[in-house]
Amino acid sequence: MAPMEAQVLIRVVPSYARGLPISPPPPRFELSAKPLFRSSPLRSTASRPAAASTEKPRASAIMEASGFDSEGREFKNAEEMWGEEIGKEGDVHKRKEWYRQGVGYWEGVEATADGVLGGYAHVNDADIKGSEAFLKMLLAERFPDGGRGRSLVALDCGSGIGRVTKNLLIRFFTEVDLLEPVSHFLEAARESLVPESGLAIENKTTNFFCVPLQEFTPDVGRYDVIWIQWCIGHLADDDFVSFFMRAKAGLKPGGLFVLKENIARSGFVLDKEDRSITRSNTYFKELFHRCGLHIFKSKDQRGLPEELFAVKMYALTPDAPKRVHNTRAKAQPNRPGIIK
Ligand code: SAH
Repeated sequence: MAPMEAQVLIRVVPSYARGLPISPPPPRFELSAKPLFRSSPLRSTASRPAAASTEKPRASAIMEASGFDSEGREFKNAEEMWGEEIGKEGDVHKRKEWYRQGVGYWEGVEATADGVLGGYAHVNDADIKGSEAFLKMLLAERFPDGGRGRSLVALDCGSGIGRVTKNLLIRFFTEVDLLEPVSHFLEAARESLVPESGLAIENKTTNFFCVPLQEFTPDVGRYDVIWIQWCIGHLADDDFVSFFMRAKAGLKPGGLFVLKENIARSGFVLDKEDRSITRSNTYFKELFHRCGLHIFKSKDQRGLPEELFAVKMYALTPDAPKRVHNTRAKAQPNRPGIIK
């Protein structure tokens, strides 16, 4: 991989920006503010924080929204893009190639915070602070005493070098498992998380799974929280859905998924270099619906540099939200009394 400086230079003026007209019509996809588009899991575009969408996704909403790739090409809809990227159902070779290139990209990245954050290691503090506040709120709402005195288990998906585990999860969970398909990242995580003797009391990291999400099935009922940050964009829609369907069984009763991800302003943005897509809030909601997942809470991450994608945290549960019954209305039906 090219040195970081060279990447910055390349990315400030992406090749596809050069041919754009200077005067209107303005590009729908503003390309100038993309210093680290390709290597960052924060993959920047000019996406301002996505306006919180309150609309219920229609079944085919995602199939209707257009999107772009990192070379400026527009796709009519996600179906067209997926057709080209992973082919029709049954095209095993194309799909394998998509995943091979995704992991291949990360295999060329150094095992440091700057590496996994695409040169944006300095966003680590804001990211962890935002995640911590969200996690604390979830634990307080889901567990008596905020989970204290309980043995809580988490899974860190697409963990990279274990940044999220080390800075956050390990402080709130009794055990943390890590899943990461790139072996030199997982090795770096193990080195920084497991004390030399491997026996120290501090050792809370239990399993290190070197597999990609699309091939992983967790043990039934093991996890209180399955944390998925900056990696779900590598999964095609159908693998996204089947991963969550399998992973639901890995949650304890009352357990949650936390998905923290970049959000496109609309439709999707395909990164041709690392083979990942950034989905819009509406796109995500449609996929959650297909997974049979409900949004328990969601929050926008604040304090990240302007030029980056908006980032959102979703807490997802397989449990349907409780309906609020209007008991008074039932108790006092508006019926005329019987006159005897
Ligand atoms: N979540 C970590 C790392 C983000 S970098 C953090 O926030 O620090 C993106 C990570 O996704 C990389 O570690 C990369 O190897 C991983 N990844 C790529 N393809 C994946 C896949 N198919 N399944 C799971 N993880 C994947």
